[in-house]
Amino acid sequence: MGHPTETSMLFPTDLLIDHQLVKGEGADEPILNPATGEVLCLVAEASQEQVNRAVSAASRAFTTWSQTTPGERAGLLLKLADVIEANAEQFARLESLNCGKPYARALGDEIPAIADCFRYFAGATRCMTGTLAGEYLSGHTSMIRRDPVGVVASIAPWNYPLMMAAWKTAPALAAGNTVVLKPSEQTPLTALLFARLATDILPRGVLNVVCGRGASVGQPLVEHPQVRMVSVTGDVSTGRKILQAAAGTLKRTHLELGGKAPVIVFDDANVDEVVAGVRTFGYYNAGQDCTAACRIYAGPKIYDRLVADLTSAVSTLKMGGQDEDGVELGPLISDRQRNRVASFVERAQMAGHMEITTGGKLRQGNGFFYEPTVIAGARQDDEIVQREVFGPVVSVTRFTDDAQVVGWANDSEYGLASSVWTQDVGRAMRVAKQLQYGCTWINTHFMLVNEMPHGGLKSSGYGKDMSMYALEDYTVARHVMVRL
Ligand code: NAD
Repeated sequence: MGHPTETSMLFPTDLLIDHQLVKGEGADEPILNPATGEVLCLVAEASQEQVNRAVSAASRAFTTWSQTTPGERAGLLLKLADVIEANAEQFARLESLNCGKPYARALGDEIPAIADCFRYFAGATRCMTGTLAGEYLSGHTSMIRRDPVGVVASIAPWNYPLMMAAWKTAPALAAGNTVVLKPSEQTPLTALLFARLATDILPRGVLNVVCGRGASVGQPLVEHPQVRMVSVTGDVSTGRKILQAAAGTLKRTHLELGGKAPVIVFDDANVDEVVAGVRTFGYYNAGQDCTAACRIYAGPKIYDRLVADLTSAVSTLKMGGQDEDGVELGPLISDRQRNRVASFVERAQMAGHMEITTGGKLRQGNGFFYEPTVIAGARQDDEIVQREVFGPVVSVTRFTDDAQVVGWANDSEYGLASSVWTQDVGRAMRVAKQLQYGCTWINTHFMLVNEMPHGGLKSSGYGKDMSMYALEDYTVARHVMVRL
């Protein structure tokens, strides 16, 4: 399919269970286009019996898949990367229709990073390193193995559906695990296309994809005794529920939860670069990103100019439908999410001391659009500084000195991403060292590469996606000792 249009497009709606593409036997879920509010198609969720069949298939497949060589698995992962690239336009079209993302961004930014994720893990699984084998007890040789965990349940969110599926399935499969993937009930389409294409590449049962809601499909998957590990990207409250459900069978868990990234701007920073950076990294994907540059702390001398320049820059962001010329941000994922974002801004407005310098309104008409918004004069204990909004809303807070701003940046339940903007490399390094975040960028924000880990501290969770650290998370270190 070259350039499918909404009307001519056939949507993938079949689940993948034990190498068969099958209709879900549970309730129908309407899949929306958030830019219009229209229903694109219905995807029936998996029944309890289908969840069980998917887990059994993955469990059977584990027996042989776990015995393949890294080189054999790498060959298949490289084919998955190729098939994603070969169908890049169709994937990007589905993702942008289902999430409201600008089509050009889905095609240009996301698909290449997704194909690269499979290629990275294809190479990485052949190059794992570790402790030397040796005689640590006289007359005995010890060696370390890293073996796969078993059946992994991978549970993905709606903000980057295919990318999150890739971050979860690529390292799990590369390490020799088998997978049951559950995409978000709101955004299953690209995972279902991926499932269909993967049937020509992966052996039976190695990858299964079941759709459905958290309570009806996610929870039984997490509780299933044959599932040995659960990986989830989602909300903190979801992470908590999944931990509780996984406790019954003592599963390994891999949690990637929310974020509230502090952006520390010192007085000596290059204001134009900060403004350009926050205009992009605060509002990309309509701010529905756990690393979004959403919590700015500005030094006392730079604060006024930063607020003024950021306000004008953000007011020029082009919001619109997937294919509008030059569109930079789309709608939010749902009406519910938009109301949630709007209520954060309303409460900030009602507090009295903050000023909405641009945005702060719903766009009337169809679709779930919310204007890109800047809130100035926020204080450390304000809700808008403390809680994740997950929308196109950035707050700015004035600070007085380094110790205060490091304290404020760390005064958060979250610990995923942060950035420091200054021309003084010593100060940047001192502050980076003190920040309690899984990632700190210096004079940039948001940039990820498959070779480096992504994951948080505190309530942001503890799983690492991407990098060798993900391969470690999806394997178990084992000791084998031989008496000589
Ligand atoms: P969500 O928590 O509502 O849902 C995430 C997934 O969990 C969905 O597939 C959902 O069906 C499933 N789920 C929900 N309840 C479940 C249960 N009881 N048992 C099993 N599965 C269950 O999150 P969302 O709204 O889809 O995504 C937005 C959230 O994800 C934000 O809070 C965001 O910060 C977070 N997020 C984090 C990262 C990261 O890397 N840390 C990346 C993207 C998104």
